Amino acid sequence: MIKENVQAILNELPAGVQLVGAAKTRSHEEIQQAIEAGLQIVGENYVQEAENAFEVIGNRVKWHMIGHLQSNKANKAVKIFDMIETVDSVKLARAIDNASGNIGKTMPILIEINSGEERQKAGALPSEAAFMIREIMAFKNIRVMGLMTMGPFAGDPEEARPYFHKTKALFDEVQAMHMAGVEMTYLSMGMSNSYKVALEEGANIVRIGTRLFGERGK
Ligand SMILES: *Cc1c(COP(=O)(O)O)cnc(C)c1O
Repeated sequence: MIKENVQAILNELPAGVQLVGAAKTRSHEEIQQAIEAGLQIVGENYVQEAENAFEVIGNRVKWHMIGHLQSNKANKAVKIFDMIETVDSVKLARAIDNASGNIGKTMPILIEINSGEERQKAGALPSEAAFMIREIMAFKNIRVMGLMTMGPFAGDPEEARPYFHKTKALFDEVQAMHMAGVEMTYLSMGMSNSYKVALEEGANIVRIGTRLFGERGK
């Protein structure tokens, strides 16, 4: 089933759109099945879970951090991940910069945007993002490569559309600033129930779990 799901989504995605398989709670066997079907990027929410999976699967795929990263886990994270999609503070960026420098790596990052401006949610407020990127661009060992957003959870994906739209507008705005060392390339938006809307709004990375692996927690 996982194989068919992965192949169906890969066939459906337009050229130039990257699929991140959101792997939280999935077994290594399930992740491996997805990889055999063509999945090239695995998304992990927790460093520990990523370490365990990385040990088994290694670097025949790319690894994206898509969960909230604590600064004190930056040392471990930079060893595994090829991209950290969830940078939402200068403090975290600094920790990633230091950790990357220590191992001679330049870490691609996305800035996570709290597009719904929800109090309890991670992410930079849209109004703060450009200012934050201006500070982060000075760090030598990280490269800002785009934006990521979750958007408010909604039953109807159409309810997510304005937040995806807003994040794309912010993406274009930052891109037009042509900040040195900032390459606005990736816009990561959309999950199982919302990726179609996200694609219409300009996403070029979609993060999909349930539609590949089935419902969680069964
Ligand atoms: C779990 C998760 C996804 C995928 O969610 P599904 O609804 O299972 O497709 C995408 N992004 C993030 C950050 C996640 O934690």
